Amino acid sequence: MCGIFGAVTPGADAAGIAALGVFSLQHRGQESAGIAVSDNGQLMLYKDLGLIAQVLDERRLPSLRGPLAIAHCRYSTTGSTIWENAQPTFRMSRGKSIAVGHNGNLVNTRELLARLEGGKSRLPATTDTELLTALLADDPSGDTVQALLNVLPHVKGAYSLAILDEKRVIGVRDPIGFRPLVLGRLEPAADDPRGKHSGGWVISSESAAIEVVGGTVVRDIEPGEIVILEEGKDPVSIRFAEGHEQLCVFELIYFGRPDSYMLGRNLYESRRRMGVALATEAPVEADLVMPVPDTGAPAAAGYAEGSGLPYREGMVRNRYSGRTFIQPSQGMRQRGVTVKLSPLREVVAGKRLIVVDDSIVRGTTTRQIVALLRKAGATEIHLRISSPPIHHPCFYGIDTQVETELIASTHSVDEIRDFVGADSLTFLSIGGVLSALDLPYDRFCFACFDGRYPVPVPYDTARHKFVLEDADGEPVSQGESAAMAANHPQPND
Ligand code: AMP
Repeated sequence: MCGIFGAVTPGADAAGIAALGVFSLQHRGQESAGIAVSDNGQLMLYKDLGLIAQVLDERRLPSLRGPLAIAHCRYSTTGSTIWENAQPTFRMSRGKSIAVGHNGNLVNTRELLARLEGGKSRLPATTDTELLTALLADDPSGDTVQALLNVLPHVKGAYSLAILDEKRVIGVRDPIGFRPLVLGRLEPAADDPRGKHSGGWVISSESAAIEVVGGTVVRDIEPGEIVILEEGKDPVSIRFAEGHEQLCVFELIYFGRPDSYMLGRNLYESRRRMGVALATEAPVEADLVMPVPDTGAPAAAGYAEGSGLPYREGMVRNRYSGRTFIQPSQGMRQRGVTVKLSPLREVVAGKRLIVVDDSIVRGTTTRQIVALLRKAGATEIHLRISSPPIHHPCFYGIDTQVETELIASTHSVDEIRDFVGADSLTFLSIGGVLSALDLPYDRFCFACFDGRYPVPVPYDTARHKFVLEDADGEPVSQGESAAMAANHPQPND
């Protein structure tokens, strides 16, 4: 997962707007952040590991000037958490520069690497994005849009892109539209003599970030579409492929902000309706309904509404415990989830609880939560999950682990219930998700739930998930797999 944001704002501070935009997308990636600006035909880029507020602070931003900017926050799905892998990527070739921010995951990196003159030795980093950037910069046309038209037909997988060159911010969405990308408008100031062109345009992973920067959502960028934003001009749209949208359904279940809209659906409402559907599919006698905070809250509200049971907050979440929290010692680390979540004894003691969460990935956090609630005196714990079991890894940009680490790929629902220690456990069905969203199955990618991958994944899924390989199947950088295993974020980090 990643968040991308781009801004074209003549006469205004594009970097400030892009930084604020990507700050509103922080939930999509907390490992690294970066920004690229273009001013008078010169690109400047700054990126680092860490949260957006740490990387793009007020000492850094004023030095990044210009009317064009893109920004990115990263959650690694290929390549490890090292500075080189932070984005935007940057490349200069034939006297031209481009910077790229990517949300998604390419699945044919082996073939793409074979197309790159000079091969892997030319890549400073180990991500699919770096490879794509190099292919675009190498394109003989010397023009970013023409390069996209030449290169994208060979690229397979998930990519929503924010690209910056000397004159343009360019938004691109892959033909399946796995990841969201939205076009927005910044209204001109009423008294600006330059009229309508004094406003600006933005692109964003999510609609909510456009509203945060004071813009108006115009529309989703279509699958297979390139949108070109230039100073003082209206957006230009080019189709590079026939698109058939199958948006990642997990965006609506878990990833996106509740105040964002995708496929015309508000995500809070979608999740609340999933909770209502779950109450219909899996009723149980209990005293109260509570969420696993924060992301389980809308579905828990829906479950309470559907079941007629009272809604309570049975756990408190430490809102400062992001994944950057540095545990002072191994002993502290083992305390695990207690740093993040603590039960409210007053609410749960002596009660039969319905605990609602949006998903189970490895089951480890859920198991700790159940243990905490029991310790706090809950008499029964009925887990209700507002998505189906995750049986298969995602190859399109979500960090669901390799197959063997997904608890539902190796355990039945009863076995998962026993592992996490709940009295009962039920997952919402795919039909339940669809009824809540009131959209047909073929509008979404459900691959992590049913294994039907819209774009074939060519490699051995268990071994090669995260590795950018060369033609011999060798990882691009030695030791990368081990480094990734060590650095890879765990669910709920
Ligand atoms: P676990 O019991 O360890 O599988 O963790 C389940 C929790 O992880 C749920 O509360 C989800 O909201 C959360 N979750 C699901 N997918 C992810 C992800 N890709 N990254 C971080 N947390 C996630």
